[in-house]
Amino acid sequence: MKVYADNAATTMMHDAAIDAMVYHISHTFGNPSSLYTIGQDAKEVLEQARQDVAACFGAQPREIYFTSGGSEADNLAITSAAALGAKKGKKHIVSTAFEHHAVLHALDKLKAQGFEITLLDVHADGLVTADQVAAAIRPDTCLVTIMFANNEIGTIQPIAEIGAVCREKGVLFHTDAVQAAGHLAIDVAAQNIDMLSISAHKFHGPKGVGMLYARRGILLTPLIAGGAQERGKRAGTENVPGIAAMAAALKDACAHLEENTEAVTRLRDRLIDGLSRIPHCALNGARSPRLPGNVNFCFEGIEGESLLLLLDAKGISASSGSACTSGSLDPSHVLLAIGRPHEVAHGSLRLSLCADNTDAEVDYLLAQIPPVVEYLRSISPVWKDLVSGKKSFML
Ligand SMILES: *Cc1c(COP(=O)(O)O)cnc(C)c1O
Repeated sequence: MKVYADNAATTMMHDAAIDAMVYHISHTFGNPSSLYTIGQDAKEVLEQARQDVAACFGAQPREIYFTSGGSEADNLAITSAAALGAKKGKKHIVSTAFEHHAVLHALDKLKAQGFEITLLDVHADGLVTADQVAAAIRPDTCLVTIMFANNEIGTIQPIAEIGAVCREKGVLFHTDAVQAAGHLAIDVAAQNIDMLSISAHKFHGPKGVGMLYARRGILLTPLIAGGAQERGKRAGTENVPGIAAMAAALKDACAHLEENTEAVTRLRDRLIDGLSRIPHCALNGARSPRLPGNVNFCFEGIEGESLLLLLDAKGISASSGSACTSGSLDPSHVLLAIGRPHEVAHGSLRLSLCADNTDAEVDYLLAQIPPVVEYLRSISPVWKDLVSGKKSFML
């Protein structure tokens, strides 16, 4: 059996997105900036996509800026807020220790330019609170950027409350909603969001396409110099087929949000309950509020990488943290942020499901994973020390 359980890394494109992409690759080849009909046809596709995307978040079409993905949207938001802040002498930014590297590394760049960055501690349950944000905001704070839902442990932050604090204090609020878009209900007005990033390939759209929502009146600073596309804020001829496919995937996801949530949550809960029976393991992050498809465990005494390789041999695609850190031997910064010790953080497994996964697949995961963990423990020197009492169990 083959089980794809790494939907937080990327998703399979759905038919609605593939159909839109293929159609527009073959039919809508014009440049949207051209004035003749073929160009204007492409422009129309682009503007329809903008309307569809805006509608999913309760935004206005002119507040939507298409980008090459989530990383670019995060960088555009953070760079722009920093430029606005610097003009007023405000060079302090509040974020969290468990953001995606697109945010953390963008903040590192600003730090090198003289900005001061406060990274909030994340509680053991994988949540930050609006009170923490309120306490961290200073008169010189120009931006709060906090992810909607964490890509490794799936915990959902109190976004509306954090947004309300920011609004009250007059500070811009950006949220990296790459894991949330298409999976959770989002309303930028009701949730007090000023800027929001999404990426199509995390909700069954194509890779290399994303979007930044920026509330009307927020002046963006282009990252790319060039033409006047995207209201002068994002140069480069638009990826019309990709953008149309993103809109199709998002429309589809938003239309089926409730039923997908229900189906995926049920599979997730079966998986969490089943894996919890493995001795000396722990679920990472609060069980609730949590993304419908996210399961993330630490198993004491094993290496996550070995687990992944053995699971791959059984047809199971999973992850030990984020795709971005796999390949490096450092434990996940997210697991360290929620207080997991290094040794424990190394033994992590993330399974991220979508509505295409089935009960039979969950049965297969529950049949395959426990014996593999047991096998790895049987050959692990660390496990030997734990069992003999030379080291004490942490989980
Ligand atoms: C995947 C991801 C990104 C990066 O998006 P890309 O489109 O791959 O650049 C950013 N933030 C989070 C939370 C993600 O999961």
